[in-house]
Amino acid sequence: MNIHEYQAKALLKTYGVPISKGVPIMRPEDAEAAANELGGPVWVVKSQIHAGGRGKGKFKEADAGEQGGVRLARSVDEVKTFASQMLGKTLVTKQTGPAGKQVNRLYIEEGSAIDKEFYLSALVDRETGHVAFVVSTEGGMDIEEVAHSTPEKIVTLTVDPVTGVMPHHGRSVAKALKLTGDLAKQAASLVDQLYAAFVGMDMSMLEINPLIVTKDGNLRVLDAKVSFDSNALYRHPDLADLRDLTEEDEKEIEASKYDLAYIALDGTIGCMVNGAGLAMATLDIIKLYGEEPANFLDVGGGASEEKVTAAFKIITADPQVKGILVNIFGGIMKCDVIANGVIAAVKAVGLSVPLVVRLEGTNVEEGKKIIAESGLNVLPADDLDDAAQKIVAAVKGN
Ligand code: ADP
Ligand code: MG
Repeated sequence: MNIHEYQAKALLKTYGVPISKGVPIMRPEDAEAAANELGGPVWVVKSQIHAGGRGKGKFKEADAGEQGGVRLARSVDEVKTFASQMLGKTLVTKQTGPAGKQVNRLYIEEGSAIDKEFYLSALVDRETGHVAFVVSTEGGMDIEEVAHSTPEKIVTLTVDPVTGVMPHHGRSVAKALKLTGDLAKQAASLVDQLYAAFVGMDMSMLEINPLIVTKDGNLRVLDAKVSFDSNALYRHPDLADLRDLTEEDEKEIEASKYDLAYIALDGTIGCMVNGAGLAMATLDIIKLYGEEPANFLDVGGGASEEKVTAAFKIITADPQVKGILVNIFGGIMKCDVIANGVIAAVKAVGLSVPLVVRLEGTNVEEGKKIIAESGLNVLPADDLDDAAQKIVAAVKGN
């Protein structure tokens, strides 16, 4: 689960992390009071969307003004102007895709006098199973680009969960950022605070780009992007309240109601598969035969008829879908049960695109027989290879 920058900053503040003062608003008429509360003389008006690259982004609408999604304002009037220009408009950044995202919230923040910009992130390193800190002197830039062209400017260190953050971690971060004296001390305590926040709230990613040194010699977190491990959210009911459904794909929200592991993709072939590994293999093979999947979907090992129907509804409601591939391995599940589920789902929601069903495993013959005798326009397939070729051919023939 992702949250907005202003929410992330409010949470980090409770761990002592140095952030700027700011006020979130959702209506242009609240801009003046927010600006007055902060006092100025410089404010930054920041679009709140679940995507980075806002500063260099562009609004689709001409009346949103020339500048990007993060704007420096030098008067209360300018804050007001920016707020009315930006709210409700669609911001396109490197991370939103061409469709962009509607800006429904702004964060009015006090302007910082920046001396230096750094990059700092924390994430779970799968190789070591530890929380890793990634730091670089190249802040405020695209970190993927830094990693590509100057990898030596990125320093990674991991924290053993048994000992937690040790003094040497703070020293390593300070050294990587070339900080000495009081700033090195600030870096060490920041690492402590961020680690506590990361572990305490079960984050899966925390990205601060930029972390800055202010002109008066203090470290400050100027941008914050936080994702939580969805599997741990049950431990943090207060965090679940921060979810902003307007930022999420409608199909994914619907799928989450049925506990379906569904991720919307850009292609044309809807997929219904049981098991995450098999689902990944299904996406791969569709691409191998020259088409793109419309989604990832793992209906799970014990998918009920209700779940299968819900999954079908979500897939068929997607206007991009030009064909559907059902790929089920009956292990704990039996193929005849799945076949009945698929047929019930097709009858319930209708079917206007080609459907290929590949069944394998327990009771496979009964399952195939049920599909063949259903009278529905379902193309049976013998194996995954055959299934992928059939659905790709069907979609291309359309
Ligand atoms: P994004 O990464 O989505 O573009 P940021 O929050 O990093 O958004 O803002 C982009 C840039 O705007 C920052 O790199 C920084 O230079 C500047 N900036 C952001 N917030 C402030 C602030 N409060 N004061 C001064 N400059 C800021
Ligand atoms: Mg940033």
